[in-house]
Amino acid sequence: ATPTALMVGTGRAAQMGVLIKGPEVLESTRRVDTVVLDKTGTLTTGVMTLVDVVAGPGESLDDVRSRAAAVEAGSEHPIAAAVVAGVREAGVEAGLTASAADGVTGIVGIGARGTVDGLAVTVGRLSAFAHVPDALAATASAAEAAGRTAVAVGWDDVARGVLVVSDTVRPTAARAVADLKKMGLRPLLVTGDNDGAARAVASAVGIDEVVAGVMPSGKVDVVRRLQDEGRVVAMVGDGVNDGPALASADLGLAMGAGSDVAVAASDLTLVRDDPTAVVDAVRLSRRTLATIR
Ligand code: ADP
Ligand code: MG
Repeated sequence: ATPTALMVGTGRAAQMGVLIKGPEVLESTRRVDTVVLDKTGTLTTGVMTLVDVVAGPGESLDDVRSRAAAVEAGSEHPIAAAVVAGVREAGVEAGLTASAADGVTGIVGIGARGTVDGLAVTVGRLSAFAHVPDALAATASAAEAAGRTAVAVGWDDVARGVLVVSDTVRPTAARAVADLKKMGLRPLLVTGDNDGAARAVASAVGIDEVVAGVMPSGKVDVVRRLQDEGRVVAMVGDGVNDGPALASADLGLAMGAGSDVAVAASDLTLVRDDPTAVVDAVRLSRRTLATIR
């Protein structure tokens, strides 16, 4: 490969909104045969809406809402933004005063935690709580079966309420997946989110292989397993939780508006924040390298 041809390819990619870390990346892009796509923020917009809040037995809906929002105000997760905005809207209607949380820390792939009203409050996966009342577990299951994401808020290791959020599939995601398949690439969806939400998005975009409910390390395991099968794997993601998998993949592609961690762990950055940019990158690398061979 001549340096000039690689530079031209790199420049063309940049014009298409695909930033390449180094010219050698074009070669790994060309060799990719499997594309693992993150769900939230990659196949979906990650701009979520709070659609329901349910208090557990004996809990006050106001406490559930305001404590959840107080912790989420200190988190950068897409779910957090939906909770904060949704509760604010409901709070204005109800004339509620917002609580504030101290010392909020994120637990990647699980949730966030902070101190509110003197209580250590956690918002996140239901599995983050030692005890989840049956009524809340049922609310969450029903929401997940409907393709939504349910998280719990609680303190003293007990889930006290469930918050349901919904996401929107990116309008170009189905076309991107169809094009990847046409080019002979095998698409998979991986997510830390629940199986119901994962399958709803997978079927909307045309992906059959789904791995849901995994931690960031589980995304790495998926990439490694495919590599062990002899696959050349691209990982596309946007979040802090995708960093390890982006770094393990043969090719890491970060959505441009994603986290700095994702961008730093990747070989390519998709400035357009659009999954069809993955298609463009593979096509361009194939063309560039075909002409220099
Ligand atoms: P994805 O792989 O879909 O991008 P993540 O790994 O970021 O998802 O998160 C996995 C799950 O962890 C979420 O579906 C949610 O249940 C929980 N979670 C993570 N961070 C938060 C947060 N700040 N608030 C509520 N739930 C969270
Ligand atoms: Mg994501």
